[in-house]
Amino acid sequence: MTMNDRDISPTPPEAGKFSGFAGKMETVACPVCDGPPNPKLIFKNAKGVGFWRCPSCRVMYASPRFTQESLLDIYEHESFVDHAFYEDWSYEKWKRENRHRSYVTQLLKLDLLGRFLAQQDPILDVGCGTGLFLVEAQRRGFQVEGIEPSARLVEIGNRVLKSPVQQGLLEAFDPGYKYQGVVVWDVLEHVPDPLEMLRKCKSLLDSRGYLFVQVPNYDGLSNRMKTFMCRKRIRKTGFKHFGFPGHLYSFNRKSLSNLLNAAGFTPIVLESWSHHMKEGTSGLYHRIITSFMKTMCLSDYITCAARSYP
Ligand SMILES: [Zn+2]
Repeated sequence: MTMNDRDISPTPPEAGKFSGFAGKMETVACPVCDGPPNPKLIFKNAKGVGFWRCPSCRVMYASPRFTQESLLDIYEHESFVDHAFYEDWSYEKWKRENRHRSYVTQLLKLDLLGRFLAQQDPILDVGCGTGLFLVEAQRRGFQVEGIEPSARLVEIGNRVLKSPVQQGLLEAFDPGYKYQGVVVWDVLEHVPDPLEMLRKCKSLLDSRGYLFVQVPNYDGLSNRMKTFMCRKRIRKTGFKHFGFPGHLYSFNRKSLSNLLNAAGFTPIVLESWSHHMKEGTSGLYHRIITSFMKTMCLSDYITCAARSYP
């Protein structure tokens, strides 16, 4: 399926400008399943961008949206990376400062990988940015590689983080061998065709390999509340919590499962994590709440482990 096949715009894509980002835009029907022509409009922002939910596969998607070329340009833009942040960056400093947030999700991700993979198993991190996850994964003994389209992030990753990241687009990636694990953290919501990306991931996986995914969860309590308040015009942020223009999609358990099944995967674990699950507060009350939110997928991201089926 090409971008043009999905473009149902009655007029040619027009130039768009959002929060300082400029580029070409395209109008799309549900890009995951080419679904029925009556998607539900959840919200339309002041710039005319609609946030729709597909009645067939249940994915939430933005339309019109920036074309892939425009998005890749945006990610290469000087202002996209906070260079000052990396000036005196060290892993230990980052870990200290993120003790109750990002670092905890790193640990939870690695625990999840450890449930399905052995340390010597080769793992590919798709869209890994600077490769921060790879740094911690290597410390745990995992054999990891990363691929990332943004030359700017790869340069920082190689130079500052010393992470094993290479620059490139996944569609052209062909290492000549298979991986036991492919991780796709916070990436599917950024790409024009997540189904195509997952199919490519499957082709890179060993037949007994595992896929690990994290995506935004529109059923998360905070996301639901923000959506409700935007729809009732109580919240005047114009649906900012969706993450447009970078985010093109949001999922819930059902729509993520549909997508994974369509790409040839069976989800085994589907849960959502609070930043405070592993470290920090560990009182009984706190543990009960985070565990309930994890099982019921009520945090704002869903994390999944899936098996590839023949
Ligand atoms: Zn759909």
